Amino acid sequence: MTATPPRVLTIAGSDSGGGAGLQADLRTFFACGVHGMTAVTAVTVQNSLGVTGVSVIPPDVVAAQIETVAEDIGVLAAKTGMLATAEIIAAVAKACDRVHIGRQGTIPFVVDPVAASMHGDQLLRDDAMSALRTELFPRATLVTPNLDEVRLLVGHDVRTHADAREAAKALHALGPQWTLVKGGHLHDDPQCVDVLYDGETFIELPAPRIDTVHTHGGGDTMASSITSALARGASVPDAVRFGKWFVTNAVAHAYPLGSGVGPVSAFW
Ligand code: PLP
Repeated sequence: MTATPPRVLTIAGSDSGGGAGLQADLRTFFACGVHGMTAVTAVTVQNSLGVTGVSVIPPDVVAAQIETVAEDIGVLAAKTGMLATAEIIAAVAKACDRVHIGRQGTIPFVVDPVAASMHGDQLLRDDAMSALRTELFPRATLVTPNLDEVRLLVGHDVRTHADAREAAKALHALGPQWTLVKGGHLHDDPQCVDVLYDGETFIELPAPRIDTVHTHGGGDTMASSITSALARGASVPDAVRFGKWFVTNAVAHAYPLGSGVGPVSAFW
């Protein structure tokens, strides 16, 4: 009999095109050798050209998915992706408290504050951003916004590495244990520099910028590889270094799909 691998949970939306969302998370979990579980929050009607429909799952069903897998199978680390509505965010916060996911409990919790797709399709309702700030940030072990999400969350327009450090401070004040400001969207920078901050120390993580348009699911892939490393017992800085390495490889091996934007790859 084979030993049970580390078990991880993604609380996220489905991308019918298989590029981003929980499909990217499951692919990444598989590549990282962990057992992936899903609490589905929304079903998007999506292909490589964008999102044309969203059907939201009832909040009590989202909460029940979290609780039922935690109680039986157990969760060593969890992450969030698309959460769609303030009602789902409130249900996720309560369910996570009940099964000890997040800062108040003992299980590492990565909150990726997904707001929109790279095509600009809205994945979070306008009133839900404040719920994300107040309900989930204080519970998070780590938050992983990109620069567009930083602007929506704390109003900082990041153009330099110094701006990224200031934004990391503002985000940290919302309550997460660690903040990761991802620099991938700073297109003038020849490097992709991410800034990790725990309220005391800044860690800068540089990686070469890879020239490709096919980056669909990049953020999800980074957050889920970090979550996999946390489930294996890595410290937050080590897990983030692993996630940075993983997503850099995933972008380097991204492939075209359909007639629009292709996904980053979890297999190389
Ligand atoms: N669709 C779903 C369901 C997602 O969760 C996400 C990101 O989390 C996206 C689409 C957008 O991915 P991207 O911005 O990489 O296109």
